[in-house]
Amino acid sequence: MKQLWAPWRLEYVSSADEIQGCVFCTAAAGDDEEGLVVHRGTEAFVLLNKFPYASGHVMVAPYRHVGELGDLTDEEALEVHRLISQGLAALAETYAPQGYNIGWNLGRIAGAGIVDHTHAHVVPRWAGDTNFMPVLADVKVLPEHIAETRRKLAAVWPG
Ligand SMILES: [Zn+2]
Repeated sequence: MKQLWAPWRLEYVSSADEIQGCVFCTAAAGDDEEGLVVHRGTEAFVLLNKFPYASGHVMVAPYRHVGELGDLTDEEALEVHRLISQGLAALAETYAPQGYNIGWNLGRIAGAGIVDHTHAHVVPRWAGDTNFMPVLADVKVLPEHIAETRRKLAAVWPG
């Protein structure tokens, strides 16, 4: 039976302004399961969005706390792209989505929840799902718990 509610997203809606510190730096420094880290590269890493727009919504971020896309080193930029590609492979194997949106939300006006640690979003898409990057308060229906999503993606990650 599918869940018709997403408590972690509701939690975000009510506490988005109260989050302390940088979630990316915290996740990078901490435990994989706790931080929802799917894969760690040399310069960048992959984590699940704790407040996803779809099952399998991952984010790719440099380890370095850097806010400007243009401030990424060549090595960071390259690995972010490689990790995005690997993420597509892992998502394809796990969820067989029909398409993907890949993007960077730069600045709050563009939908970025965290503006000072740049990160790319990879959102799997299926026919009949919702629009990319809905507004913050728009609560989505998610069929699977996020810890299970992390485990599945980590298990099939290429390489
Ligand atoms: Zn950070």
